[in-house]
Amino acid sequence: MRVEVDPTMCEGHGQCNAVAPEIYDLDEGGYCLINNSDVPRDLESQAEQGALACPMLAITITR
Ligand code: SF4
Repeated sequence: MRVEVDPTMCEGHGQCNAVAPEIYDLDEGGYCLINNSDVPRDLESQAEQGALACPMLAITITR
């Protein structure tokens, strides 16, 4: 699984990080930075929950 964030859509709500801090980090402005775009299998569920939590639908998951 891979995760990507579209920086043109991210508005810095931080919900991704609140749900899945091991995958989604935040920069100093609160915008999403992805720590590890190749998601380890044991963090896939967390990565999915973080993507679903994004109110801007800025996170894309591919398999
Ligand atoms: S939840 Fe969405 S809008 Fe908010 S920081 Fe994460 S990617 Fe950006």
